[in-house]
Amino acid sequence: MKAIQVSAPGDADALQYVDVPMPVAKENEVLVRVEAIGVNYIDVYHRTGLYKLPLPFIPGSEAAGVIEETSERVAWAFLSGTYAEYAAVPREKLVPLPPDVDVRTAAASMLQGMTAHYLVTSTYPLAAGSTALVHAAAGGVGGILVQMAKQRGARVFATASTSKLDIVRELGADVVIDYTIDDFAEVIFRETEQRGVDVVYDSVGRTTFDRSLDVLATRGMLVLFGQSSGVVPPIDPTRFAKKSTFFSRPTLGAYTVTRDELLWRSRDLFESIRSGEVRIRIDRELPLRDAAQAHRLLESRATTGKLVLVP
Ligand code: NDP
Repeated sequence: MKAIQVSAPGDADALQYVDVPMPVAKENEVLVRVEAIGVNYIDVYHRTGLYKLPLPFIPGSEAAGVIEETSERVAWAFLSGTYAEYAAVPREKLVPLPPDVDVRTAAASMLQGMTAHYLVTSTYPLAAGSTALVHAAAGGVGGILVQMAKQRGARVFATASTSKLDIVRELGADVVIDYTIDDFAEVIFRETEQRGVDVVYDSVGRTTFDRSLDVLATRGMLVLFGQSSGVVPPIDPTRFAKKSTFFSRPTLGAYTVTRDELLWRSRDLFESIRSGEVRIRIDRELPLRDAAQAHRLLESRATTGKLVLVP
């Protein structure tokens, strides 16, 4: 079968389109014909070696397709090896697709959608009247996060780079800030009578971290869940003392521990998509062989919403 393989960590050229043997399903696994693959920033971290996988490996953390044996339509996330025509997947990690959710939407939403879901329901549960700041709000996770935060009645402050601001407004954010020009903390203090926000969901990392910490209200929570601008340097914990700040560095794996939790989050997500409360924005679809191009787009901040690869 055709697949993308990484033999040595590196830039996007490390993603090689090659022939590899068909995967063989072990006990408790099934063979899935992959029909659509979601591209995620974590795939970049695997490729560069920031998050290490044994070499050589097939990258990719999310896909949807059809179980060969039973023709069931399924999707899965947070398991590596999806940049391929087929994958052997543990049955317990597969989520059945409702009839009216197509494979492309599923592949475009599982990982980022369940991430947004655990952030707003479990890491810092939002309620009517909560105030939240979402960075990179035109991005994959960010775009869904804004919509789910609004669904729960929060007042949402959202940042993005200049050309993406209209998209963030359309998503329903209350205050939209160009963080490449304005100091987002200053804007938020002005808008909140100097109080700050209850929670910052920060996936940008290095360039936003310090001001994210500053802009929290007393006993607020800083949720650092990614680092698209680079890794945050070590931090002195006494910095959290000034406002009794809570700090979390969560991952999806810890919020889909049991099969029940996985099904709950995916069901909620698909329900929000079917009802139209959450819209999944697919930036563009590319053939699997162009995975390197997809990574270049993502890393150069050229995307809004999701990139999907099609085998
Ligand atoms: P995005 O679609 O959000 O793409 C990244 C965005 O980050 C860019 O479009 C850009 O938006 C912004 N950005 C700011 N500075 C930079 C920079 N220097 N280089 C590149 N991008 C920059 O990606 P994802 O939604 O896939 O992922 C976002 C982050 O969330 C990643 O760090 C990812 O690893 C993390 N994540 C964490 C999970 C978890 O459970 N912990 C699960 C899923 C994702 P703009 O142009 O508006 O600044």
